[in-house]
Amino acid sequence: MSLISRARATLVDIPVETVRTDAVQSFVKQETIIVDLETSDGTPGRGYSYTIGTGGRAVLSMLRDHLLPSVVGQDIRRPEAVWRHAFTHTRATTVGAITSLALAALDTAVWDGRCRRNGEPLWRAAGGARRDVPLYDTEGGWLHLDTDTLVANTVTARDGGWRGSKLKVGSPDPRRDIERLTAVREAVGAGYPLMVDANQGLALADARALARALEPAGISWLEEPLPADDVSAHTRLVESTSLPIAVGESLYSVAQFKEYLARDAATIVQPDVARVGGITPWLKIAHLAEAFNVPVAPHFLMELHVSLAAAVPNGRIVEYIPQLRAVTTRELRVTEGLATAPDEPGIGIAWDEDALEDLRVA
Ligand SMILES: [Mg+2]
Repeated sequence: MSLISRARATLVDIPVETVRTDAVQSFVKQETIIVDLETSDGTPGRGYSYTIGTGGRAVLSMLRDHLLPSVVGQDIRRPEAVWRHAFTHTRATTVGAITSLALAALDTAVWDGRCRRNGEPLWRAAGGARRDVPLYDTEGGWLHLDTDTLVANTVTARDGGWRGSKLKVGSPDPRRDIERLTAVREAVGAGYPLMVDANQGLALADARALARALEPAGISWLEEPLPADDVSAHTRLVESTSLPIAVGESLYSVAQFKEYLARDAATIVQPDVARVGGITPWLKIAHLAEAFNVPVAPHFLMELHVSLAAAVPNGRIVEYIPQLRAVTTRELRVTEGLATAPDEPGIGIAWDEDALEDLRVA
């Protein structure tokens, strides 16, 4: 038995490393909700989730008031049992973002503890499909950057060995998006993968027009073209374009992904381990997508997603957005655009305890 004997949650505000803007929002700080568990046999487990600026204290309250007291006495080796047990305490507020984010911080801590106790790294414990995962760059493609900077950043990414670059679209004048994309494509050549991301900013007619305009540019995927809760509009868009449509960062449960997949509304899925409720549901989404022959390109959180994309056979690529440098002592190992999943027992994040304490706000 390895029963959870102590559970604690804290909130840490991590400043962003660079200004990040898209069609609908800007990312000003990462509210990082951290869960620490300890078991009767002395195994520690630490997990986390995040928001990009609002709701962090609500997630913290959900954990402190409801979820953490409910899991004391549960066996850390049994993530399915712990997750289900915690979930039954949240019926009144599921499915919802705050609850899923709280469940994720807890579930990641359970996986960390389970893996540490078994002496296994996450990528292998969760399936171990392979060790290395390709990375694409998102940091050079924010919407506020002018075209020259966008072109320069993308050329630098290509020359640095990245396996692709993502550019934000959704400018007030759609011609600006096309001009930017065209300039980048001309500079990097036909063979370099480019993705575009509209962050739910378009209506169906505009998304169709953008997709049509982008088809000749050879785009790897068009991400979040439409509001994420409009599944039928995504189905109609997928039917009307040859561009792959990627969806998932704004979905919060396994069932929402099932709906997208069953209705042919996504060509690529992008589950975010924090937003879907943790590693336990993330793996279900990845396996569900595999059954539909759909690849997974997870959203953000590369520090966890490299291990998870490595764990499953359909993990295609992970987005490079470093956001934990301020609170860790070691970075992800990246060689020529290929990330190697950490091999330490647990989730493989080397936390800097002093830095966490300095940035702690609750
Ligand atoms: Mg996105």
